Amino acid sequence: MSSSQVKWDCSQCGYAPSDRRKYCSECHSMLTWACTASGRSGRYTHYYRHRDNCSYCTPELEEEKQHEMEEKQQQLQALDNKQRPWSEWRRTNASCIQHTGYDVEQVQELYSMCEEPLVNYCSHKDYRLTYSAATSYLSPMNMLVVTLWYLKHYHSERYISSELNLSQAAVNYLLSTVVDILHSCVYPELISIPTNLSSGKTPHGPQQHHKLIVDSTFIAIPEPYDS
Ligand SMILES: [Zn+2]
Ligand SMILES: [Zn+2]
Repeated sequence: MSSSQVKWDCSQCGYAPSDRRKYCSECHSMLTWACTASGRSGRYTHYYRHRDNCSYCTPELEEEKQHEMEEKQQQLQALDNKQRPWSEWRRTNASCIQHTGYDVEQVQELYSMCEEPLVNYCSHKDYRLTYSAATSYLSPMNMLVVTLWYLKHYHSERYISSELNLSQAAVNYLLSTVVDILHSCVYPELISIPTNLSSGKTPHGPQQHHKLIVDSTFIAIPEPYDS
């Protein structure tokens, strides 16, 4: 995990801190960095520009981004269990099934299939801007269960927005986004097409070892429009 290439030190007093910081803790002058791999060096204020462009320092950037992502994920997860409606529906399987059509474990399994795009979506600045300051935004798990609820019961957007205290525009945006996410994450997991199907060389005989069960009572997820 240690970020190796870059050494920090103080050109005034020679102090070498072990972590990245702006000013020397001994003499308070601005620290300098030296990237041993690329042979470049400079003052603190130019470090970030270097890091973004240096192929040796980029892995560190990736690491940092991942760390940020994990932090966000933890914040959002904490919100998952506190926030309505999931905080209520998750208490019993009966309540969960009644609202979403799935028991708690199944919902969690679905969530794990599409967690990454949901978290990314929630972390996006535009997403939070669609909500007024007065209403909080929905956590990823809540986005998923609200969408499942909508797909199961076909509640109107107006009803959902009043139940959750969100604007109707936010609900509309949320539902269409999560349906797209479900389509792109869950659909391929359920229906896997053999890769050689398109080659045209394999004859398509009857599928002896596979059985496709179509349950037509369930509500299909609409195909998203390409934008
Ligand atoms: Zn110093
Ligand atoms: Zn570098």
